[in-house]
Amino acid sequence: MPLPWLNGKGPRRLAGGTATFYRLPTMRAELNHIRNWIFDLDNTLYPASANLFPLIDARMGEYIMKLIGCDAVEAHRIQKDYFFAHGTTLSGLMTEHAVDPHHFLNYVHDIDMDVLERNEALVAALARLPGRKLIFTNADTDYAGRILERIGLHDSFEAVHDIHATGFRPKPDPQAYQGLCDAYGLDPAHSLFVEDLARNLKPAKAIGMATVWVDNGSEQPPNDSDRSFIDYTTKDIGHWLLEILEDQA
Ligand SMILES: [Mg+2]
Repeated sequence: MPLPWLNGKGPRRLAGGTATFYRLPTMRAELNHIRNWIFDLDNTLYPASANLFPLIDARMGEYIMKLIGCDAVEAHRIQKDYFFAHGTTLSGLMTEHAVDPHHFLNYVHDIDMDVLERNEALVAALARLPGRKLIFTNADTDYAGRILERIGLHDSFEAVHDIHATGFRPKPDPQAYQGLCDAYGLDPAHSLFVEDLARNLKPAKAIGMATVWVDNGSEQPPNDSDRSFIDYTTKDIGHWLLEILEDQA
């Protein structure tokens, strides 16, 4: 039976005089301890430049206009206020307006996903990554499934830990991170978390996870310049994964 880290490729033989050496799968040395690879979904597994999120943003604006009876400018202000103050717009709407989360999520996620493309490089990189792979998102599982199908990652992850699983206490609430670890028996010291929203990496780092910021142009909260909790920065997670999987010989 092939060892899991060989990914079906078999051992590679290295030249070494009369002796034969077999090399373990190569991973950047400082990441050899990572067993659990945790990924945000939106604007992390697909680029912000795909402009999918503006479609959701527009749906959120419409929802708030109908809910409150205000114009688009006021709806946008409320939406962003809640997003920055409560972690998600939904959390703010639930707290301030007792909005039903299922109703809201079904409405805002009712968008066309044609702008997303299959990402072969990312599919390949994830397949080579040794260990457990999970999604940790402030969206919901149904929507995550549609996204993953579209970009070719529907078989790449063990599970999606979503907004419902957090009990509507989403990232960056520290309880959300603890809940994820408890749900899947993850040791944060052997886990790495990848996100486009820098502030969501801070609680991950605080409990001992390694952190990767996907700096691909996502909107960051105002007055939010602290990056001290970020271990790695990349513009493209697929390329970063291939980089760390390169031979270190
Ligand atoms: Mg995101």
